[in-house]
Amino acid sequence: MNRSTSEKLYQEALLHIVGGVNSPSRSFKAVGGGAPVFMKRASGSNFWDEDGNRYIDYLAAYGPIITGHAHPHITSAIIAAAENGVLYGTPTQLEITLAKMLKEAIPSMDKVRFVNSGTEAVMTTIRVARAFTKRSKIVKFAGCYHGHSDLVLVAAGSGPSTLGIPDSAGVPKSIAQEVITVPFNDLDSLQEALEKWGEDVAAVMVEPIVGNFGMVMPQPGFLEGLCKLTHDNGSLVIYDEVITAFRFHYGSTQTYAGLENHHDITPDLTALGKIIGGGLPIGAYGGRKEVMEQVAPLGPAYQAGTMAGNPASISAGIACLEVLRAEGVYDEMERLANRLADGLQQSADRHGIPLTINRIRGSFSTHFCDHPITNYEEAQDTDGERFASFFRHMLNRGINLAPSKYEAWFLTTAHTDADIDATLEAAEESFSAMATEQ
Ligand code: PMP
Repeated sequence: MNRSTSEKLYQEALLHIVGGVNSPSRSFKAVGGGAPVFMKRASGSNFWDEDGNRYIDYLAAYGPIITGHAHPHITSAIIAAAENGVLYGTPTQLEITLAKMLKEAIPSMDKVRFVNSGTEAVMTTIRVARAFTKRSKIVKFAGCYHGHSDLVLVAAGSGPSTLGIPDSAGVPKSIAQEVITVPFNDLDSLQEALEKWGEDVAAVMVEPIVGNFGMVMPQPGFLEGLCKLTHDNGSLVIYDEVITAFRFHYGSTQTYAGLENHHDITPDLTALGKIIGGGLPIGAYGGRKEVMEQVAPLGPAYQAGTMAGNPASISAGIACLEVLRAEGVYDEMERLANRLADGLQQSADRHGIPLTINRIRGSFSTHFCDHPITNYEEAQDTDGERFASFFRHMLNRGINLAPSKYEAWFLTTAHTDADIDATLEAAEESFSAMATEQ
């Protein structure tokens, strides 16, 4: 596959954009380096690069593009918004519509505030929790990524880990000291941490289903235990649902039937992003009324945004949720993901390549190892070189994945059985070639 234009553009990008990319997760550093592919156009489940090569896309822009690229309903909403003016700096009725849709789908959110990214949403939930509890520390789980604000960049999963940056430079020690990190799925460690530092802990922050060191389910009882321990300690529970909300069904993990006892667990604050903006920049956070009333202009916790709630992002978000609300949409993504994951597993097995797949509905992660993946340590202990080889073989056969062994494959409403057939054919060839490389 000729990708000479991407290579040329990468050299040019390096002159002007730090590292040639506007998010480090787009770099190919972890998969052997070299030029990332410069995409020119996308439609449905397909990408075309600057050299005219076509790819089937399973990156879905790290999650938001759950309806496939350039979905006509979302595109029309964006065009209509653009024609009406893209930024007002005043409230609009559209914001109420999307806020109501989110509240209906995620009942723990009495009040919502829109921001511009998942990072901002998470960052603000922490400020609000600190304002409400008048405490300063937070507990997070190793390998969970919560955006790039200072406090949560400790042991922060996929992005930094892919690049071998366990804890970011530039985060003052005094801030890092405010974070306690414990292993996911390990209630004893959480209990110990709360026994030791409990009276300073404002919040326990968790990805209720992890999306940042693969797709990892909480073990039965983990989230209930987490909520009980946290609330007994007088701390707040923050769910980071930036990846998970509207991913597995129309709602969040808080209403997801795949999680037992989900009805018994109510986080105090929830952070959202990605899907709820239909591909345009967005974030949102919300929660219990008394807690959210800490936020300015009602309360003393300040958070603002020139672009927050802009009509274009909000319109795209409403349109995206309208598509997802249709009957059967999630079942079909799951059917295709199941076919694909099963086929990949069989193909890897046939070639003697150890592969563990964690699939949850229409998303899954592939780990080159023969142990289960239930926490970050296990996800780290997988074969990165083999992943890099698989990634490149697949790319050269027109399959676009995230260039990181920790990231998931996302099915969209635009994928078809023909996409799955073509992907499995590419995987069979890739595994076959990899078997001879051993
Ligand atoms: N939280 C989680 C769980 C995420 O996966 C991400 C992004 N991958 C973020 C927060 C940060 O979101 P954003 O990139 O929109 O700032």
